[in-house]
Amino acid sequence: MEIEREPNGGDEADRASYFIETVIDDHVQAAMRRASEIPPGNPGECSCCGEWSGRLVNDTCAPCRDRYRL
Ligand SMILES: [Zn+2]
Repeated sequence: MEIEREPNGGDEADRASYFIETVIDDHVQAAMRRASEIPPGNPGECSCCGEWSGRLVNDTCAPCRDRYRL
């Protein structure tokens, strides 16, 4: 989308686009914060099948989470 600029309205448009970029930046940072809150998982024995897994989430391995839709 083209932003048409008035001869004396340039500053106004610059402020507006700066504001929009700042808002988008906040959304990106909020999304990154949410992504970083997803549990990375821990290595250990699965509480379901007893198999060792490098990435347990809630003490359950990925195959068991798939099997039981946890
Ligand atoms: Zn398991």
